[in-house]
Amino acid sequence: MNILTKCVHGEEVNIEKNGGVLTPIYTSTAYDYLDSGPLNYPRYFNTINQKEVADKIKILEKGEFGLVFSSGMAAITTTLMALLKHGDHAIFQGDIYGGTHYAVSQELKKFGIEVSFTDDITDDSFRKLLKENTKAVYIETPSNPLLKIVNLKEIVAMCKSRDLISIIDNTFASPINQTPIFWGIDVVTHSGTKYLGGHSDITCGAVVTSNELGDKIYKTAVNLGGSLDPQTCYLLDRSLKTLALRVRQQNSTAQEIAEFLKDSGKVNGVYYPGLKDHPGHEVANEQMNGFGGMLSFEVKGDADEFVKKLQLIKPAISLGGVETTISSPVKTSHSKLTDEERKKAGIKDSLLRLSVGIEDSTDLIADLKKALKS
Ligand SMILES: *Cc1c(COP(=O)(O)O)cnc(C)c1O
Repeated sequence: MNILTKCVHGEEVNIEKNGGVLTPIYTSTAYDYLDSGPLNYPRYFNTINQKEVADKIKILEKGEFGLVFSSGMAAITTTLMALLKHGDHAIFQGDIYGGTHYAVSQELKKFGIEVSFTDDITDDSFRKLLKENTKAVYIETPSNPLLKIVNLKEIVAMCKSRDLISIIDNTFASPINQTPIFWGIDVVTHSGTKYLGGHSDITCGAVVTSNELGDKIYKTAVNLGGSLDPQTCYLLDRSLKTLALRVRQQNSTAQEIAEFLKDSGKVNGVYYPGLKDHPGHEVANEQMNGFGGMLSFEVKGDADEFVKKLQLIKPAISLGGVETTISSPVKTSHSKLTDEERKKAGIKDSLLRLSVGIEDSTDLIADLKKALKS
């Protein structure tokens, strides 16, 4: 089936017992233990609402096994705690999501797990950090906020040759634009708070992987307890029905906006993998089905003054919603870096990151045009 169909139905059209086209929200936390089959309990990640939405995400990501979590960080930390142990070493892409950076630096070290961060996104920078006890490699592509593209084939080849587990945070791309398991990546994680949820109103996460790794992650997940409540499972499932529609619209509007900004001559740099002069354009073209709804650019004057002039586009952290939002990485995601670290990462004070929504592109461009002019 086509991805548009899978977004609505998952693997099969579900007709509920009472004839409804939807599965109701099962709020029960207590289940019959005399019933045959595994014991149901929300923290066992196996109630009907949890299973239904996890299975849909699994299908969209082309994996064998899927779980939904109470946040993206719950999904990511549970995965790492499940797959790594005392004495292991893991390599993380240097410019991963700030929350993940803190979590692994602070929490994993407490458990005697060594972590290293790469200088850049080339496979050479990962290879340089390999050690005898390296067990996993963790990447994020497109990256935040400069939309750098990591070559999935190269990372997979490196990991397979050394028997390392490869993990990717696929939040920015969403499974509509990128299915890393198809390219050989072992584990996909998501902050469902972003594109999967898509309406800036739920917090959740997801993991998709093989049955073998899924079994390990599942056991740790039950112990750590980051399960998702039925109401949010329902909202997430509802959001997924329009995921392909939303993301395709966001892709096309982001492309238009990126081209407008570039041609305007009024900004210093535009970072979008859909632009031919983006350094990751060719790789993105090969490994992605769309270039995504995220882009960033450098304004010529003061970034805050520019943002204040926008009327339709709202300043906000977070991303992936139906409404277009803008944020300053220096003031938000990268505020804790030193000036020098930011300089090394290429993140200027004038940089703004746009999360393109589903509004009409003409209206969005008019808003940007006005702010650039005045
Ligand atoms: C937001 C985000 C996370 C963390 O997700 P939460 O739902 O906030 O826990 C992880 N990775 C990326 C890329 C994100 O944007």
